[in-house]
Amino acid sequence: MTPSRSVTPQDQAARVRPADTDHLKGSGITRGDRDDRVRLADRSLPLFVLREHATDYAALFARARAEVGHGQCLCRTPALRLVIRCSRAGRYHLAGWPGEGELHDPSCSFHKLASELTGRGAYSTEAIHESDDGVAIRFTAALARKLSAPESAKASIEQREGRARRTVGLLGLLHWLWEESQLTAWHPRWRRRTWWVCHARLSDQIAGCSINHEKLAEALYIVPPFRKEFARRNTAAFETFRVARLKRRGDTQRRGLILGEIKDVSPTRYGVRYTLTHHRGALFATAALDARLRRSYRPAFSEAAAEHGARSIGLFLVELSPKGNVRVTDMAAMLVSRLYIPADSSHEVVMANALTDAGRAYVKPVRYDGSDLVFPDFVLTDTHPHSFVEVYGIHGRESYDQRKRVKQAHYQGQGAGLIEWDVADSIPDVRYR
Ligand SMILES: [Zn+2]
Repeated sequence: MTPSRSVTPQDQAARVRPADTDHLKGSGITRGDRDDRVRLADRSLPLFVLREHATDYAALFARARAEVGHGQCLCRTPALRLVIRCSRAGRYHLAGWPGEGELHDPSCSFHKLASELTGRGAYSTEAIHESDDGVAIRFTAALARKLSAPESAKASIEQREGRARRTVGLLGLLHWLWEESQLTAWHPRWRRRTWWVCHARLSDQIAGCSINHEKLAEALYIVPPFRKEFARRNTAAFETFRVARLKRRGDTQRRGLILGEIKDVSPTRYGVRYTLTHHRGALFATAALDARLRRSYRPAFSEAAAEHGARSIGLFLVELSPKGNVRVTDMAAMLVSRLYIPADSSHEVVMANALTDAGRAYVKPVRYDGSDLVFPDFVLTDTHPHSFVEVYGIHGRESYDQRKRVKQAHYQGQGAGLIEWDVADSIPDVRYR
C-alpha cells in the first residue's frame, strides 16, 4: 500500500474503539462483532474493517501471508492462528485455523463447536474442500441440464454406510452456510440479529467459494434486506441473476440457488407459490413437490412455531420456466428462532428464546445431510466445560430421544452440565448459576 498523507482506512481503523462504534449502527454488523480484533503482520485491526475493506488491505494481507504465514485472532492470549485466504479474483479473507475453532472465545467470530458437535465432519475433503484460495463445494445436484436428454432418475447419490459423504446436498449446504456464518450461535454480547446481519455475514462467507466449479456468489442469490433506498439496485441484482444465471443457453437449462426467508406459501392453479420476505417476485412449485417438502421439513412449516416469533428459511434450487417464471425444482427448509438460530421444533424455538432472554451464550449443532446424527439440542458455551440443553417429548422421536439419553450419559460422565426439558412440564430455569 502506498503511504499517503491522506487518511487511509488503516488510520480510520486505528481510531475505531469499541466505545465509539455507535455511529456504525445500522450498517449491518452488530456492535459485539465489531469488538473482534485481529493482527496482520505488525498491525492490529478490528476484524470488521478488514472484512468490509478487504481490497484496501490487500497489500497488508499479502505481507502477513509472506512474512508470518497466517493472521492472528486476539480474542485469547496467546493469539490464535487464522488462515489467510486469497480468492482467484484476488480478494483476501480470514478463516479460523482448522481444528482450533473451539479455542476461540465464544463471542469471537471464529469460535466453532468441537467437530463431534456438527454434521460437517461427515463429509470427505472432496465434498467440502478448503484451501488457501477458498472453499470448493461439490454439490449433489447438477447446476445445469440438457433439455434434449431425459432427466436422470435421481440426481442425489445415495451415501454408503460408514463412508464419508462425497457430495453436499441442499440441507447440507444450508447448514454449512449457516454454521460457517456463525448464525447457529448466539452470544449476549451481540445485541441483535436481523436479516441485514444474516445477509452481510452470508455474503461475506460465500465470497471466494465455489460450487461445482462455479462461483458460489454467482450461483446463489441471497435475498438482500429491503431498504427503500436500495430497492432499485436490489431489483436489478435479481434481474441479473435471472437473466445471466438462469436463462437457457441453447440446449442447456441452467439452475441457480435462492436463499431467503419464506413469508408465505399459497395455492395456485398448478401447485403453490412461495413468497419470500424482502423479495418481490414469487417462486413456483408443483403440488407434488410442495407435499414432499412439507413431509421432509415438517418443523419449518409449523404454525405452532410461528406464534413464538419463529421464521422459516428456504434454500431453493430453481430454474426458469419457458414463460420466464422462477420454478422450484427442490428446496431445503429450516425453522429458525426470531434471532435466526436453527431449531428442530417449536419447543426448541421456545427454548432458544428462553436462553436468549436469560442472557446465555449458546450454539445449535446442525446435522447437515446426516439425518440420523445425534447431537445435543443446544450447547451452552458460557460454561467450562460446555453444557448441554435437551428438549424431550416431540411425538414420533422416541427412539431418537433414547439414543440421545445414552449420549448424554456419556457427556455427563465427562463432567458436562445438562439442562433437560420434557415439554409435558413447564420450561426449567435456564439462567446461569
Ligand atoms: Zn478469536
